[in-house]
Amino acid sequence: MKSLLILFVFIHSLLAFDYALEPKKVSETTHCFFGLSEVMDERNNGNMSNSCFVNMGTSYLVIDSGPTYSYALQAYEKMKEIKNLPISYVINSHVHDDHWLGNAYYKEIGVKIIGSHAFEDEPKVEKTRMQMRITPEAYAKTTQEFPSIFVENEKILNIDDKKVHIVSVNKKAHTDSDLFVYIPSQKMVFVGDLVFNDRIPSIRDGNLQGWIDTLDEIREMDVEFIIGGHGEIVDRSSVDMTYNYVKTLRERVAALLEDGEGIAETINMVKMEEFKDVNFYDSMHRQNVDIAYRMLEWGE
Ligand SMILES: [Zn+2]
Repeated sequence: MKSLLILFVFIHSLLAFDYALEPKKVSETTHCFFGLSEVMDERNNGNMSNSCFVNMGTSYLVIDSGPTYSYALQAYEKMKEIKNLPISYVINSHVHDDHWLGNAYYKEIGVKIIGSHAFEDEPKVEKTRMQMRITPEAYAKTTQEFPSIFVENEKILNIDDKKVHIVSVNKKAHTDSDLFVYIPSQKMVFVGDLVFNDRIPSIRDGNLQGWIDTLDEIREMDVEFIIGGHGEIVDRSSVDMTYNYVKTLRERVAALLEDGEGIAETINMVKMEEFKDVNFYDSMHRQNVDIAYRMLEWGE
């Protein structure tokens, strides 16, 4: 009997992937699991985006559920070691799958999930991008579970007498489905992938001017903490890298387009070397110039 048990534990350990998650304390009430500054692969198994827990008093509010069922389960286990609280809601900042595939776990334990109305039109795919790039062991039990509560413009939750404003950006910025979550009592705003502070952002699904305008609004907010979807900077300076990058990219490409430069010349000319030490510069920047040129050529 004992050997059977050992065998079971052994087989189970082969099947489960241990993300070795460690929550980092952001404030008295808030912990985040900060993802690695990498692309999703079979080593990190999607642990490359942020998932945060805010202790609202008698429950946790979770912002972004992470890349898989098992990631979400392991994150919540870690948080229960800090304080064993139920979860009131999970909020998904946008439709990119590294931020919401953990919904599968939270749905199973009966948590309500809130997201942008853009999820209503989002197709379920045969295989997610995450699923194609990570191991089947890490992806086990992960199913595509969309939010069941949608935010059109703004939704205000009252949790333990504290207001939580979930604001839909309602224009294309990082994607056409970005939300930010503002908690006035904590002087904190969660902005999803409107802010990357550890890597060059991907602009593929976005709009440059919409993104700049949205970050201008966020920079005006009366908050101490601005927490993005990637990167560990959580004070007001967390916005700077993305803001400067997107703004400079737009200005330089627009100026060359105005001068009648072609796309190939523009890609060669807009080097923006001040960003060359930022992660993903080599793999992402030229592609971003290409995308920016095409966007601006068509009037964004
Ligand atoms: Zn994203």
